[in-house]
Amino acid sequence: MKKKVAIIGSGVAGLVLANLLRTNSNFEFVVYEKGKFINLDEGFGIQLSVNSVSILNKIGFDQINKDEKYHPLKLDFHSIGCDKICDLDLTKFNSTNIRYTTLKRSVLVNFLKEKLLSNSIIFGKKISDVKQIEGKLNIHFFDGSSDKVDYLVISDGIFSSTKSIIEKKFIKPNYYGAIAVRRQIQNKEISKINTSNISLIMGSDVHLVLYPVNQQKVINLVCLIRTKSENNDSNSIREILENSIFKQNKNLVNLFRGDLKSWPIYVTNKFIKSVYKNVFYAGDAFYTFPPTMAQGASQAIESANEIFNLISINHADMQNEYFKNRLGRINLINKRSKFNYFGFHISNPFVKFLRNQILKLLVKNESFINNYLGKVFK
Ligand SMILES: Cc1cc2nc3c(=O)[nH]c(=O)nc-3n(C[C@H](O)[C@H](O)[C@H](O)COP(=O)(O)OP(=O)(O)OC[C@H]3O[C@@H](n4cnc5c(N)ncnc54)[C@H](O)[C@@H]3O)c2cc1C
Repeated sequence: MKKKVAIIGSGVAGLVLANLLRTNSNFEFVVYEKGKFINLDEGFGIQLSVNSVSILNKIGFDQINKDEKYHPLKLDFHSIGCDKICDLDLTKFNSTNIRYTTLKRSVLVNFLKEKLLSNSIIFGKKISDVKQIEGKLNIHFFDGSSDKVDYLVISDGIFSSTKSIIEKKFIKPNYYGAIAVRRQIQNKEISKINTSNISLIMGSDVHLVLYPVNQQKVINLVCLIRTKSENNDSNSIREILENSIFKQNKNLVNLFRGDLKSWPIYVTNKFIKSVYKNVFYAGDAFYTFPPTMAQGASQAIESANEIFNLISINHADMQNEYFKNRLGRINLINKRSKFNYFGFHISNPFVKFLRNQILKLLVKNESFINNYLGKVFK
């Protein structure tokens, strides 16, 4: 008999798992999403490193229209004055079909959604309670409906309320002390940087990342600014930008005209292994990093793939095995994300000078790159 999987949340993690399950006839699945539709917010760019592209290719990602994605060759490091410090070769870990990729989040999500039957996703559903009965999980929703499943995968994002309901304790992420601001910009608005590459512009307590998201070279701009307050209304954001970025380079004001989106950065407090052996947390619901290694979506994809592999082979100790693998990956990436965050935001002019000299050496050092990036991109 087929095993049934319920997936909670139709973000990247949930939709990737659904697509993987689609390829295995031993399973039936349903995605329960609290929203009324899938969020296809146009402006958000995503970077995918080869570790997640190789998984996505299993479900046909390599066949996406070539115009709708981009394969940057280099990461250029700049000072806040936009002077180039050095560059890092991103192609080192690429192979013919598996390449570092940037694209709009909406393109990725649309690709994942289109492959599923329309009745695979049920909208307007939030779990109110979960009970285990004879090895199966009875899930109850706030609208009074229920379902009985063999596996429950919670992929409802950083604020995962389902996690709190299942574990019967209030679990909340921590504010990371930084606000993200993003905008989609046109190539012509930018001078001094090479818009064919990913550009990282590093200032005191702030960094900006720009990269093309398609062959038309629409550019995704996202910046992270250290700030104690989580307040991100538009007046506060203008003031924060003024006191952080524009104070250090007034020309950058041109990048922030028009519609800006902003949000506070939250990170996970601690890992949770569920009290139920057949409940798995995936993507941001398992662990959310600071976004300074650009691994959030890639790890969401990896976690979905790990769950798929373990339930496919009916692993005898699947939850512990999953937890052990995830812990290893997360510890590695989290350390690097935090180190990057520190390095990108250095204020002291002498330390900044030193950082830049070291960076110039490191980007050319094979064994450092293999260790620092290779272990993440493997
Ligand atoms: C500034 C910034 C830049 C980033 N840049 C990158 C990048 O370049 N590369 C990268 O790899 N990652 C990046 N990320 C991270 C990445 O976007 C996320 O890690 C990834 O989208 C997480 O996917 P997810 O499926 O776990 O969660 P989400 O995408 O958050 O999806 C969760 C889904 O669950 C639904 N949901 C919520 N609550 C419930 C509920 N109770 N019941 C049912 N459904 C529910 C939501 O509506 C949503 O559809 C960035 C993040 C930030 C903040």
